Amino acid sequence: MAYRDVKLFINGEWTDAEGGRTIDVENPATGERLGTVAHAGRKDLERAVQAVERGFATWSATSAYERSKIIRRAADILRARLEEIARILTTDEGKPLAESRLEVGSCADLLDWFAEEGRRTYGRLIPARGMAISQLALKDPVGPAVGFTPWNFPMSQIVRKLGPALAAGCSIIIKGPEEAPGAPAQLFLALEEAGLPPGVANLVFGTPSEVSEFLVPHPVIRKVSFTGSVTVGKHLAGMAGSHMKRVTMELGGHAPVIIANDANLDAAAKALTASKFRNAGQVCISPTRFLVQAAAYEPFMEKLLANVAKINVGNGLEDGVTMGPLIGQKRRAAVEAIVEDAVAKGARVETGGHRIGNQGYFYAPTVLSGLKLEMRALNDEPFGPIALVSRFHDLDEALAEANRLPFGLGSYAWTSSAATANVLARKVQSGMLSINHIGLGLPETPYGGVKDSGYGYEGGSEALEAYLNTRFVTHDTALVPF
Ligand code: NAD
Repeated sequence: MAYRDVKLFINGEWTDAEGGRTIDVENPATGERLGTVAHAGRKDLERAVQAVERGFATWSATSAYERSKIIRRAADILRARLEEIARILTTDEGKPLAESRLEVGSCADLLDWFAEEGRRTYGRLIPARGMAISQLALKDPVGPAVGFTPWNFPMSQIVRKLGPALAAGCSIIIKGPEEAPGAPAQLFLALEEAGLPPGVANLVFGTPSEVSEFLVPHPVIRKVSFTGSVTVGKHLAGMAGSHMKRVTMELGGHAPVIIANDANLDAAAKALTASKFRNAGQVCISPTRFLVQAAAYEPFMEKLLANVAKINVGNGLEDGVTMGPLIGQKRRAAVEAIVEDAVAKGARVETGGHRIGNQGYFYAPTVLSGLKLEMRALNDEPFGPIALVSRFHDLDEALAEANRLPFGLGSYAWTSSAATANVLARKVQSGMLSINHIGLGLPETPYGGVKDSGYGYEGGSEALEAYLNTRFVTHDTALVPF
């Protein structure tokens, strides 16, 4: 299938949308039109539902061992095509090629891990109160699922839903990102070539609200997983709740970074610069509110700015580029509005704070200081290349600020004190905390948020649980003696 003509993948076939409707796909580094992606209509969605229902019947009756082999084969295909897919990903989404390579590689690793973990969905035999009674807890796939995934990690956001779903024995419809459909299509090609039966994994694109309004309430669908903004997540969780669907929500964040006086500031500045400006800051766990203890503030700021000065912004396909453009006009306008609001209310621009060039959607890596709580930057998720640096005096003050917002996704800290690390581990209200290194998002570790950042996990064995029902069966041992 030509990359510039991404179709729907329904029931094992690549098809145009009903009436031939399409959506344009744009290169965010140049603004040029790359091609189109099929825009699903109601009939396409009905076909997808029929396919996913049949796919579930086939796949849930396939052994965990066979399922694992097919998923691992898909991972191997991704590895073999890593370079080609990474180029497609960068062209669609903008991130530097090195980051796209990491994303595709991480998808292969995620698939491998879920494939293996799916073979370990043990039930249990529970000791009964009477000797003639047997009690079993059984694990079954929850049923056909639907996953809504965003553009920022166009492939790995899908794999975090599809991987555990397939490993658990569920079939799935993915509503992929219309902004960056090329890499998702490559993932489904790999699954097809790996021998995944028709209907088990389906890929659609369209108008997000039309797709969710049709699929979430549909009686065939038993599980809904969404990654995106808090506002949309609450809407979809409400809809899913009113139809009693199992739900996983991976929503926004506004990650605090607590840097204590005793931190290794060189290491912190280097690691945090790389992490903050990865994918131009369009990462839900991007370090954002830098809270630096008073004595460390000046030296940390100096080191941070020195690291930021080395960032090379440009077209992600070019050698040496370390930060690409934002995804599009809407996101750049949102970032600009957040910076303008902060500056109007007295923030100091330490570096950046402006667009770069007049082609594509580039925005300079930006560091702001002199922040006040009434600024939007400290309250709304910037989802862009903005680091907000504030000063604190004692740990309680830092904790109060870290926990002030309704978000609770990623968080970070740098300290050489075990006592401080212990306090932070217990008191920072977030689904994930990484101390003295950037260590979030591995296949085998839980990935998810608390508070308004959502619920459920998309990494670790917890990710598989999200696609399993636990059923209890008890009988007398006269019936089945063991
Ligand atoms: P947005 O709120 O317009 O859309 C976010 C995502 O939700 C997109 O993928 C979109 O296709 C989808 N969406 C929107 N309305 C929907 C509906 N009714 N039904 C189903 N899906 C729907 O925001 P945006 O400008 O595209 O993205 C920026 C925001 O998204 C950020 O503020 C960030 O919080 C959030 N986001 C979070 C993650 C994450 O990993 N948690 C990833 C990407 C985006």
